Amino acid sequence: MSLSERVALVTGGSRGIGRAICLRLAAMGAKVYVNYVAGAGAADETVAMVNRAGGAAESIGFDVADSAAVKAAISTLVKDTGRLDILVNNAGITRDILMMKMKDEAWDAVIDTNLKGAFVCIREAMRPMMKGRWGRIVNIGSVIGFSGNAGQVNYAAAKAGLVGLTRSVARELAGRGITVNGVAPGYIDTDMTSGLNDEIKTAIIARVPMARMGSAEDVAAAAAWLASPEAAYVTGQFIHVNGGMFMG
Ligand code: NDP
Repeated sequence: MSLSERVALVTGGSRGIGRAICLRLAAMGAKVYVNYVAGAGAADETVAMVNRAGGAAESIGFDVADSAAVKAAISTLVKDTGRLDILVNNAGITRDILMMKMKDEAWDAVIDTNLKGAFVCIREAMRPMMKGRWGRIVNIGSVIGFSGNAGQVNYAAAKAGLVGLTRSVARELAGRGITVNGVAPGYIDTDMTSGLNDEIKTAIIARVPMARMGSAEDVAAAAAWLASPEAAYVTGQFIHVNGGMFMG
């Protein structure tokens, strides 16, 4: 599963699932660009972890929801490296609240980051991939995009939107040596879930046949396989990494 000579960009690569994906892709030989928006320190720590493991990485700060910033950052990256082979759209946020109380701001923030962010990053990354006649795009969705969840209409809509985006771009790029797939994690132990109260955590685990949370590494393993040369004939698909919580 070698990715030597390949250049990868992982949005939200500074922490959690994104960090685990950066470490895996770098271990497979890719030069990894670790994106963050606010936490430069965490991104630097991810770069240091990659370097300690013998890999190559650099941090790259930009807001995925800001089209101009994405365009500028990816264009500079491609000028510096001459290529971009792998894009992992992992950056994501939650603004959970019941629909009746959800303000436009909470809707817009989640759609802009989790869905529009992926759209803009793909649009800017596809040209260098087409030039290189090889590419791997991996979108990190969610079990919630398939099952829905009370209190998460914004998040569920964004993640379900990612499924349609993935399948449509997969069709557009299939003839170019570029695959477009996704990973739909279930309940994973990261900062995103650490704030949930014990009652909610117990209720979620009760719905997981494996009766435990997943790890960021569980998700990274699936994302790294989709990014590998071995997954060449797989496109438009989502791999569910959820302990059996949802079987789609
Ligand atoms: P974390 O909250 O641990 O990390 C989120 C990452 O996204 C951080 O690196 C953060 O950077 C970055 N980020 C957030 N907003 C932006 C933005 N506008 N531009 C660039 N980067 C941004 O999340 P997880 O690791 O848990 O989640 C990663 C992905 O997996 C998300 O898409 C999430 O929806 C999905 N997922 C997670 C599940 C879970 O149970 N944890 C379950 C299902 C899906 P910074 O620190 O700089 O803000």
